[in-house]
Amino acid sequence: MKTILVAGAGGFIGGHLVNALQQEHRVRAVDIKPLNEWYQRSPQAENRVLDLRLRENCIAAADGCDAVYNLAADMGGMGFIETHKAACMLSVLINTHLLMAAREKGVKRYFFASSACVYNAEKQMDPDNPGLRESDAYPAMAEDGYGWEKLFSERMCRHFMEDFGLVTRVARFHNVYGPFGTWTGGREKAPAAICRKVIEAKLGGSRTISIWGDGRQTRSFMYIDDGVKGIVDIMNSGIEEPINLGSSEMVSINRLVDIVEDIAGVRLERQYDLNAPKGVRGRNSENTLIRKTLGWEPSIPLRQGLEKTYAWILRQMTEGRA
Ligand code: NAD
Repeated sequence: MKTILVAGAGGFIGGHLVNALQQEHRVRAVDIKPLNEWYQRSPQAENRVLDLRLRENCIAAADGCDAVYNLAADMGGMGFIETHKAACMLSVLINTHLLMAAREKGVKRYFFASSACVYNAEKQMDPDNPGLRESDAYPAMAEDGYGWEKLFSERMCRHFMEDFGLVTRVARFHNVYGPFGTWTGGREKAPAAICRKVIEAKLGGSRTISIWGDGRQTRSFMYIDDGVKGIVDIMNSGIEEPINLGSSEMVSINRLVDIVEDIAGVRLERQYDLNAPKGVRGRNSENTLIRKTLGWEPSIPLRQGLEKTYAWILRQMTEGRA
């Protein structure tokens, strides 16, 4: 049994990761949010509220830990990252101070949650994206703000491994979705936002839905259970370079809306907001490397994951009203 720090444990992915890790390990769960705002909180974990931008808090958090999973970041969907570039870049303080603390406290393994937003924008201008390979991050032209912070932090992980011998692992997540994620408030991403809008229309008797962009932009979406398995397997692997962790089931946003409408049993008139933040034109995960190295890739079908996500968001909205 090891002692493991999960940074960002009050968030979506961190909360699910704590649940998985504590089956076998002691978990220290840390987040900046007050405990009552954590998406999930395990009574078995050692739960602490700390601002991990501060070095002394990172040292306290890493003390006595064998491994660190860094999922803490000030982030959200396109609506947030396009309008909060400085805040996104300040997450560099979290990763920098956590790496320094891990080294100082003799942590053996360190995981950093990177993002498909590191990829060169010029390779994402076609909705029929054949899939982004790991090498497509360079020459660098990442998503402004958020993506550049991730790319810089990836490299810092690499240099801590090369220069200081700290074993670091980096996964580039492609859109993760599922229950206990952000679904309202401005930081939500497309799957949760579409579920919420369809439910709002259904409950409110409206026949319309507003879609950001023209609906033809493409993405892939990874269900959280695949994400958690991938994170743990990559952490424990010998993979030294950043690796894609995402689904390769690419869909247009219109197709995503079709699926959610099917689940809800409604058809809505789509109003396309061409001035809303929409991100790149086409993005998909190319999974050759993960298949080769782990013999596995995220494969939970989008429809299946969305059914669970929709049901959870529906409960939040109806229980909230009640
Ligand atoms: P999330 O916002 O739900 O979780 C991040 C958590 O970090 C939040 O609970 C937040 O309070 C915490 N945090 C922020 N600043 C902090 C600080 N100074 N000290 C301590 N905690 C702090 O996001 P998520 O979806 O769970 O994402 C987890 C990680 O995965 C992030 O690094 C994110 O950039 C990355 N990622 C997520 C996705 C996705 O689709 N969800 C895609 C690519 C990358």
